[in-house]
Amino acid sequence: MKKIAIIAGDGIGPEVTECSRFLLEKIAKQYSWQFSFEEVLMGHVAIEATGNPLPEETLAACRRSDAILFGAVGHPYYDDNPQLKVRPEQGLLKLRKELGLYANVRPIQVFPELSAASPLKTEIIAGADIVFFRELTGGIYFGQPRERQNNGNTALDTMIYHRYEVERIARKAFEAAMQRQKRLCSVDKANVLESSRLWRETVNQIAEEYPEVSLSHMFVDNAAMQLIKNPKQFDVVLTGNMFGDILTDEASQITGSLGMLPSASLGDSVGLYEPIHGSAPDIAGKKIANPMASMLSAALMLDLTYGEIKAGNQIRRAIQKTLQGGYRTADIADKETPKEKILDTYQITTEILQRLENE
Ligand code: NAD
Repeated sequence: MKKIAIIAGDGIGPEVTECSRFLLEKIAKQYSWQFSFEEVLMGHVAIEATGNPLPEETLAACRRSDAILFGAVGHPYYDDNPQLKVRPEQGLLKLRKELGLYANVRPIQVFPELSAASPLKTEIIAGADIVFFRELTGGIYFGQPRERQNNGNTALDTMIYHRYEVERIARKAFEAAMQRQKRLCSVDKANVLESSRLWRETVNQIAEEYPEVSLSHMFVDNAAMQLIKNPKQFDVVLTGNMFGDILTDEASQITGSLGMLPSASLGDSVGLYEPIHGSAPDIAGKKIANPMASMLSAALMLDLTYGEIKAGNQIRRAIQKTLQGGYRTADIADKETPKEKILDTYQITTEILQRLENE
């Protein structure tokens, strides 16, 4: 029995997550798997129902699952009132912390059918296929002290890394490299920062356990440039929390389409899988959201939590064939797309499910 907690969340979260559930149910039938789905609340909907963005019941359901399929949280009411103390995003931050999700995994894969959506030239991005491993629970976003001094005129944050934090994410990145092209680029700022020198030293030590993987190091400023200049040079990229935050957003533009990008947050037990987009309140309830980022997150779940890479690839191929058939949701349609090929959330899901069946 594969136990999955579903946190649909706010805005378009419930729409796209429902489509991924249809997809998982279909693939379960094909492989004769038993899935159990437990639907629980987080974010604005949880605050409305219980006053708490992460109710105890949700946390308990996540702990007893193998994996969590998450939609998005966020609502304009809180965005317009930054002073509110109880907020939807607190649910997600607490969940990551409680489950010890220290590795954020973001694949950046260009679907050739959508290459026009990228602001970069097609010849630069064609064939780009990168997986980022970003450390998620350490570094400058969590280091103490973080405070104001000198009557508020001086501000202090602390960039801190412990060896064990680097070791555990480095191992995950090397393991992924072993399944791919066996190339790993570790990004740091070791020419300036002591924490980066520890990072580099530790990554070099872990590399000894993976002699087949070719390891390189790159300074973050150069990496920012190289990602745009020649993204095809990268296979697996390993980096710390803040550098990863910035580089993964930059890299998302290689594909140009927010509605196509999945992610995973992993620790030593349950994994959390979610599209990188937010709750998109501007289109919520209109049935026009692109469900493919969520579906690709479900595929990542099959790869990483269950080791079912064949089934994960089957989902990716079904999506690609749907794109090859010319079908688009509105967010990825271009001027050339005929009107009748622009489908709503559920229509495109039907097309994808049909192609999954024929795989
Ligand atoms: P967003 O990603 O929700 O939306 C940005 C733009 O992209 C919008 O125009 C939206 O319509 C469009 N878009 C996003 N996903 C789409 C999809 N699947 N299909 C079609 N179009 C899509 O980012 P935002 O507008 O900055 O934030 C909206 C809310 O989401 C805020 O409350 C924010 O805090 C929250 N948010 C949550 C997460 C999360 O839960 N992990 C991440 C980012 C933002």
